Amino acid sequence: MGRFSVRSTYHLQMIRSRIGTYPESSNIGEAKRRFWKGVWHLKISNKIKAFAWKACLNIIPTRDRLWQRRVPVELGCDCCDAAVETLVHCVKECEVAQQVWAASPMAFVTDVGVGYDFYQWVIEIEKQVDEAGLGLFFALCWGLWPPSVGVVKINFDAATFADLEAVGVGVIVRESHGKVIAAMSERLPHWVDADCAEALAAASAIAFGAELGLSHIHLEGDSLSIIKAFRCEDQVLSCYGHILQGAVCTSRCFTSFCCSHVLRGGNKATHELARLAGHMLGK
Ligand SMILES: [Zn+2]
Repeated sequence: MGRFSVRSTYHLQMIRSRIGTYPESSNIGEAKRRFWKGVWHLKISNKIKAFAWKACLNIIPTRDRLWQRRVPVELGCDCCDAAVETLVHCVKECEVAQQVWAASPMAFVTDVGVGYDFYQWVIEIEKQVDEAGLGLFFALCWGLWPPSVGVVKINFDAATFADLEAVGVGVIVRESHGKVIAAMSERLPHWVDADCAEALAAASAIAFGAELGLSHIHLEGDSLSIIKAFRCEDQVLSCYGHILQGAVCTSRCFTSFCCSHVLRGGNKATHELARLAGHMLGK
């Protein structure tokens, strides 16, 4: 005999409501296809379309998602500090978002779909607006994400370990007031020279920034040849040219990007992280 409880009723309702939202029947599959086709034809930039797609799939790197993936970030929203930074919070519930919507021709959207996730919210909005309205909706959501963190400085450094045949990479991400918002220490199983190691560290730093969903990046390292190569002041024909090429490609996803050289003394904490990677993570 099956057991029945309030909890299992709740569970059933949850399952039903999820089925209602993401059904796999062909009709709904067709509706989803039509929705995406519609989004792809909106007169908005590809950047905003890509944001809309990621947001609907819930793969935007909000702090709550980064935290779930064990990235050591602070959970609170930067704008209001009153709530955990989720996507729906940033683009709908946060006081900053509320002000933006209230001043827009779409003030009604904040009253729609209370408790919904982003995709459910979009589906409700889509029923109530025309093509231009949906374009404006996504553009405003895109503008509200990420929250106004401003320019972040990413420091990188590398350490080589001949005995371990490995490279240690250290990366520290600071917001404009200097507060550390994320850090990374990683050991790569490569035996390369110091310049190549610095190039690997720079590439890791940029990939980390992209993973964190940051927009305005100021990259800083103590290897003059790598910083020069980034600025295309030197022809990158060296052994690390292909590593930097990939990193430059990734850096194009940021809204703004610049890099500068810092003396070793100013990059000490990052250097320690790079050394730590070799010693602490050794097998
Ligand atoms: Zn907020």
